[in-house]
Amino acid sequence: MNALHTTLDRKLLPAGAMLFSAGEPGEAAYLIVGGRLEVFLERPEGDIILAHRGPGEIVGEMAILDRRPRSASVRALEDSALVAVTEQQLAHRIAETDPILCMCLGVVLERYRETVALLERMQGAAPPPAATRPPAIDSGFAAALSTLVLEREIRAGVADRQFEMHFQPIVRLASRRLAGFEALMRWRHPQRGLVPPLEFIPVAEASGLIADLTRFALTEVGRVMPEVMLAALHNPSGIEGPPFISVNVSGHDLAAASFPQMIADLVAQTGIAPSCLKIEVTESLLMRDPERAAAALTECRAAGLGVAIDDFGTGYSSLSYLSTLPVTTLKIDRAFVRTLLADRTSRRIVQTVLRLADELEIPVVAEGIEHVEEADMLTDMGCAFGQGYLFGKPAPLDTTITLTKSWDTVVLPRRALAS
Ligand code: C2E
Ligand code: CA
Ligand code: CA
Repeated sequence: MNALHTTLDRKLLPAGAMLFSAGEPGEAAYLIVGGRLEVFLERPEGDIILAHRGPGEIVGEMAILDRRPRSASVRALEDSALVAVTEQQLAHRIAETDPILCMCLGVVLERYRETVALLERMQGAAPPPAATRPPAIDSGFAAALSTLVLEREIRAGVADRQFEMHFQPIVRLASRRLAGFEALMRWRHPQRGLVPPLEFIPVAEASGLIADLTRFALTEVGRVMPEVMLAALHNPSGIEGPPFISVNVSGHDLAAASFPQMIADLVAQTGIAPSCLKIEVTESLLMRDPERAAAALTECRAAGLGVAIDDFGTGYSSLSYLSTLPVTTLKIDRAFVRTLLADRTSRRIVQTVLRLADELEIPVVAEGIEHVEEADMLTDMGCAFGQGYLFGKPAPLDTTITLTKSWDTVVLPRRALAS
């Protein structure tokens, strides 16, 4: 047993005390908050010192990463303060890690074990047991391979113009007039057909390729905007003012210093009205790096663009923080709309979001409306806009133009309007 004293989550190890010994099972890794520790191999002829570790470093991570006994011993050289990271905490993080990074981690671990084993053999010690990589790291190989293939395909797809934008209508609920569109990306893969974004956006984000896809999305929206505007002019009774188009952007986009300039260039080059262009960012993404996101969104807003918070209600945004962001629209996640009719809790959440948006004086778009009853209930609750298969699925540009020219509020009447 080591001389570890716990004060809440901080552990104090007095000078000279062992943290753990080689051969023991690994229970936790330790972040060193203060003090100094020594990593060593115990030998009858004298200890072999492998390393010294100090504040800001970690010890004991290997045994819990590859679930093998401790390969070396660690003791405190000075009174030390440590914070434990449990095996469970690390396992969860490994499962969430990019598969390529995970595979590299497995390789690095194995190399280190080999080096320690070599050192031990040179000292005449018995060979260590055969390496058994933990399933999480081992299964990383197949995932790493498919991610690499997908990444290469996305890169080729961008060069080969295999990506396209589809557009889903967003309607003013009270009148059922067409108000705008959300641009949603599709990948026309030569073998796999039309690939939905959830199958490639995460890989594009992990690899940095998302920057190319976002540039494509924005350029494409800039290109089609005049055509959509023109089509809207043909149908003043079905359309509410100049339609807007909203584009999804990722955290990587917002973090890039060049993003606001890209937006400014797009507006300048295409001559589109910035007020007709909206940027959609998810709530969870905003919470990951709030300050950076706020700075980028403020620049977009200053350029005249709208800013929508997507999937609202699914993240953990602090409400006070929301009031500091330049938000012009909240989008209620489909999960709440889908259960609106059957579930009182969903209704209450939607009601709360609507009240909050009312306080902040920003309109709400309800996503994923599939039934007229849902649309009617949301209208009665005071939700300004709706989007969902009831009004139209995401469609390519030519269908979108036809739809815009022929949009008829009577086709999708409100219960009240119809009677
Ligand atoms: P999102 O931004 O929440 O987009 C709404 C998703 O809900 C779309 O899925 C849309 O087709 C789907 N949807 C809309 N109405 C209904 C409905 O009534 N019922 C059902 N079942 N689904 C409905 P999609 O196009 O597959 O996009 C999935 C996600 O991929 C998007 O979620 C967005 O996060 C991401 N995405 C799409 N296009 C882009 C893009 O150009 N850039 C980035 N960064 N992400 C994108
Ligand atoms: Ca969206
Ligand atoms: Ca959404």
